[in-house]
Amino acid sequence: MNRQTLDEFKQRIPLLEYMQAHNWRPVRQLRAGRWMGLCPLHEDRRPSLLVDAARNLFYCYGCGRGGDVIRFVELQQHVRFPEAVKLLRQWRGTALPCEEAAGFYHQQLAHHSVAVDYLQQRGIQSPEVIGHMRIGYASGDGLCRWLMQAGHVFATLRAAGLIAADGRDAYSHRITFPLEGNLYGRSIAGSAAPHRFLPGSKGGLYKWKQVCECSEVILVEGLFDFAVLRQAGFCNVTCSLGSHLNARQFQELTDRPRTVYLTFDADTNGSGQRASHLLAQRLRTQGIIARHVQLPDGHDPNSLFVHGADARQFRSLLEAAPL
Ligand SMILES: [Zn+2]
Repeated sequence: MNRQTLDEFKQRIPLLEYMQAHNWRPVRQLRAGRWMGLCPLHEDRRPSLLVDAARNLFYCYGCGRGGDVIRFVELQQHVRFPEAVKLLRQWRGTALPCEEAAGFYHQQLAHHSVAVDYLQQRGIQSPEVIGHMRIGYASGDGLCRWLMQAGHVFATLRAAGLIAADGRDAYSHRITFPLEGNLYGRSIAGSAAPHRFLPGSKGGLYKWKQVCECSEVILVEGLFDFAVLRQAGFCNVTCSLGSHLNARQFQELTDRPRTVYLTFDADTNGSGQRASHLLAQRLRTQGIIARHVQLPDGHDPNSLFVHGADARQFRSLLEAAPL
């Protein structure tokens, strides 16, 4: 593992989460993200271990030891560095290769003009948005070799659904978006199925932690819709990855009183509108104010912006949205 891969690896393993999964309990909070508790590395009677969750570091005022998450595992499990890395990989299971694959595809994006052109066509140019969403490109080649060089074994990559049985990338000619524990791939080649996910749940609402405090939330179906709205300056947007919400997404959306602007596709066959009305009824039973944003026929938020709409025009659609 080179320096950069190692740094990325460490960033993806939250020390506090690892410690809590190994029965460490913080005793008191110093300030946001900094915790004190009993040190598991020596016989500790009063809390002398500081865990800095934001910096992903620990330090013990009792035994004087400290460091990063790998150092913690070395000390706690009495193992050397390579073994500690292996233990952390096992602990993270298939989530880690998924995140690393997303990182690989994100790095690849700039090297493939076919992908950059496609994003342009879909109205996405902002480096800030591409970085924020970690948008990537799966050319169909190179992931397996790269992940195995980073220390993963073939069976884990197969189990994660990232690699086909013949060793090729499962995602090929797709724009990729990392989700929580999954990876969405949008095909840019005409013949393949447009949408692809890894086996397992699509997870909760997209970037929900960043909008859950908002009293007004814009809900869209697709990540390209999310991207153009974010690019236009709307920060209170989330995405359900399809017009059907799973139980977790519904629970998130209704966890406190708020207004939801349902901005599903105005499909010519009316399926988006039907899904929107059914969802609005369910939301209202939970005390949520649901408003239907009326897009011009045949449009979704993405195509609207691609056809020249701007933030002001979209804002007036929000204001006009009937209950
Ligand atoms: Zn200690």
